[in-house]
Amino acid sequence: MKTIIDPEACISCGLCIQTCPDIYEWGSDNLAKVKVDVVPPESEECVREAADNCPTDAISVEP
Ligand code: SF4
Repeated sequence: MKTIIDPEACISCGLCIQTCPDIYEWGSDNLAKVKVDVVPPESEECVREAADNCPTDAISVEP
């Protein structure tokens, strides 16, 4: 699984970083960014949760 954040849509609420700190982090531009190339299996559930709960639907998930 891969996950992508649309920087145009992120409003820096921090929810994804709270939900899935192994996968998302703050970038130097104060927007959330993805810190892994491939999501490890044990983090797939929290990535789905983060994508579902992002208030601006900025997070996408690819199989
Ligand atoms: S949950 Fe969405 S809007 Fe909030 S920091 Fe993460 S990507 Fe940005």
